[in-house]
Amino acid sequence: MNPAAFSSLTLKPDLLHNLLSLGYEEMTPIQAQSLPHILVGKDVIAQGKTGSGKTAAFSLGLLEKLNVKQFQVQSLVLCPTRELADQVAKEIRRLARTIHNIKVLTLCGGMPFGPQIGSLEHGAHIVVGTPGRVEEHLRKGTLKLNNLTTLVLDEADRMLDMGFQPSLDAIAEYLPSKRQTLLFSATYPAEIQSVAKRIMREPIMVQVESTHDKSTIQQHFFKVTDDKQRMTALRLLLMKYQPESTLVFCNTKREAQEVAGELVNYGFSAVALHGDLEQRDRDQTLIRFANRSASVLVATDVAARGLDIEALDAVINYQLARDSEIHIHRIGRTGRAGGKGIACSLYSDREHYKVVMLEDYLDRMIVSEALPSMNLLDKPVFHSAMETLQIDGGKKQKVRPGDILGALTGENGIPGTAVGKINIADNCAYVAVSRDVYKPALQKLGQGKLKGRSFRVRLLRS
Ligand code: AMP
Repeated sequence: MNPAAFSSLTLKPDLLHNLLSLGYEEMTPIQAQSLPHILVGKDVIAQGKTGSGKTAAFSLGLLEKLNVKQFQVQSLVLCPTRELADQVAKEIRRLARTIHNIKVLTLCGGMPFGPQIGSLEHGAHIVVGTPGRVEEHLRKGTLKLNNLTTLVLDEADRMLDMGFQPSLDAIAEYLPSKRQTLLFSATYPAEIQSVAKRIMREPIMVQVESTHDKSTIQQHFFKVTDDKQRMTALRLLLMKYQPESTLVFCNTKREAQEVAGELVNYGFSAVALHGDLEQRDRDQTLIRFANRSASVLVATDVAARGLDIEALDAVINYQLARDSEIHIHRIGRTGRAGGKGIACSLYSDREHYKVVMLEDYLDRMIVSEALPSMNLLDKPVFHSAMETLQIDGGKKQKVRPGDILGALTGENGIPGTAVGKINIADNCAYVAVSRDVYKPALQKLGQGKLKGRSFRVRLLRS
């Protein structure tokens, strides 16, 4: 029998059939190594990053154990960001679609509290949430975890980076001591070991090679003299490669904001993503980057987690990461899905020690390359392929993607091929349209009606 086949595990037949229907033919390495332990109820620490199949690894563990008839929270999955929590909940629901009446609830910060209380009153089997908000519900008594059997910490390293350790410890106080605890983390620093020691029992360690072999990504390094040259170098690299989507990493929130601002001043479609943004700005930023109306996203490491963008053409380290594992993690985001990506890193003399560390880690020499020709800066800046229009009506006003598409492409409208992603939020909606037709699109939507009503429409830009 194929040892990587899901059928080699003791999974309920419904779950197995569903895996096949989802096209999951074989286990990924992290699944093959962790699931046999997870399914016998052991505590497991697994080192693996996004894309490794880690979500399915712990989700199958939760689902195999779940008793649907017992309508109480049996599993809690903690994630660093709302985006990740949403993705995890989605994956759990996909894997659980053959189990009837299963209820998966997300409890995340930045979302209104009241509706969450309402949902909790209706009951749930699995809760996926961010630590701060989960802790708050526990303190208020709106969430009860007396019957919990499994706790999962997903991207535990990021939760610690984001300062969630006190919340994690507080949450652990509310949990039955007899439970299974699973911890997933891309890196395994000392702080994780200490958390594991406090909340886990004789955990089994599982480690898999990252999906990107660290030597296969083509990396370019550029030495800069000062911050002014750093900005010039960034502009030159963007102008040389003209990537459709670039993620620029900064080490601080302030720098991320400043770099994005400067790029916008130079005419680039750039946006900043960091922890200080209001939830609404954060949502808009992510929507604009994912729908290709912003081509450069300048982010801190913490904020970039949970970012689920399929194809990143380039990753640029505006500054080198504090540690080599984070560096590998950053550049691993380029060239997803087998595509070839570009990874560039800028560093100054002051960061030389990081270069030495990285040389050690990669086991190779790092040679600085010459920056692209300054002539590139005389050329017009390239633009994003799309623009985003914001409509002041969303789910609550019963606006659906089909309504927007219909209004845009109706009589004298723009061609359907010029319409990109559509996102519907509670009270507003976003639609991406090709840059060359955004004016007629704006006019068409502004003058037309959706659901028989007129809505205000505006162009969303930095
Ligand atoms: P994750 O690392 O959990 O973010 O998963 C990355 C992607 O791989 C998700 O889109 C999963 O749906 C998919 N996936 C997970 N396990 C498997 C598998 N065994 N075979 C095929 N796809 C998988």
